[in-house]
Amino acid sequence: MAIAETHPQQQEKVSSEASAAEKKRWTLGDFDIGKPLGRGKFGHVYLAREKRSNHIVALKVLFKSQLQQSQVEHQLRREVEIQSHLRHPNILRLYGYFYDQKRVYLILEYAAKGELYKELQKCKYFSERRAATYVASLARALIYCHGKHVIHRDIKPENLLIGAQGELKIADFGWSVHTFNRRRTMCGTLDYLPPEMVENVEHDASVDIWSLGVLSYEFLYGVPPFEAKEHSDTYRRIMQVDLKFPPKPIVSSAAKDLISQMLVKDSSQRLPLHKLLEHPWIVQNADPSGIYRA
Ligand code: AMP
Repeated sequence: MAIAETHPQQQEKVSSEASAAEKKRWTLGDFDIGKPLGRGKFGHVYLAREKRSNHIVALKVLFKSQLQQSQVEHQLRREVEIQSHLRHPNILRLYGYFYDQKRVYLILEYAAKGELYKELQKCKYFSERRAATYVASLARALIYCHGKHVIHRDIKPENLLIGAQGELKIADFGWSVHTFNRRRTMCGTLDYLPPEMVENVEHDASVDIWSLGVLSYEFLYGVPPFEAKEHSDTYRRIMQVDLKFPPKPIVSSAAKDLISQMLVKDSSQRLPLHKLLEHPWIVQNADPSGIYRA
């Protein structure tokens, strides 16, 4: 795969010494490679240090052959294009990229506390304070994205990382789109898909409100709301908005009220994200710093 010539705006310098005028192309030689941080579908992620600035980053190494085999080059290009232009404390920075004959390298912000998914597995479910803090940070990040006409479309625990301070970072823009129009593409994981995407009809930024509702539920109950053994049952439950709140764990009625206002079939009736930030459950539980302290 040949990612087009490096875009000047994606050439942001990790090195503070490098001048803006200097058209630097990154190479592997610019980094000291440290421990592996994890393995993804298309390659590995390593801790790395940019030699000139000593800046710590995560270097994601993707194999071109695997990207080609799975026909995701276009998706990666879009991900790079979108993520490199976003600047928000709750969105993982993509500083730049480079490639050689066999691999593509993404220079990413290092999220020192790792995957949110693992935290959720460890705790089974989060406290209301923790869940509300994460939901508010995500709402702020999504308001920022939507303001730039970017719809994420794949909000789920696996795509969230935790920074050194405990702040949430949206990490994966593989399914996101930059759009001024309503979209009609089926994407994302079934459990988080809103009815309009399950049905493959037009959708807009309000798909992210639905997914945030699913995520809020999963934070508080440890499982997504429409989970079922068979895909067809999940599909049916989503279409009917078959939303049930189990008696355990005990969750406040304010939290349930908020979730019910996000998981609404008619996308135009979902609680707008700026209203979500004013909801009593968020106001009473979310840490205003956006940082969850255990
Ligand atoms: P991915 O290919 O994005 O699924 O990444 C594979 C794994 O590497 C993830 O599940 C994380 O554990 C880890 N990882 C990826 N990106 C980062 C990052 N920026 N900071 C810290 N760990 C990361």
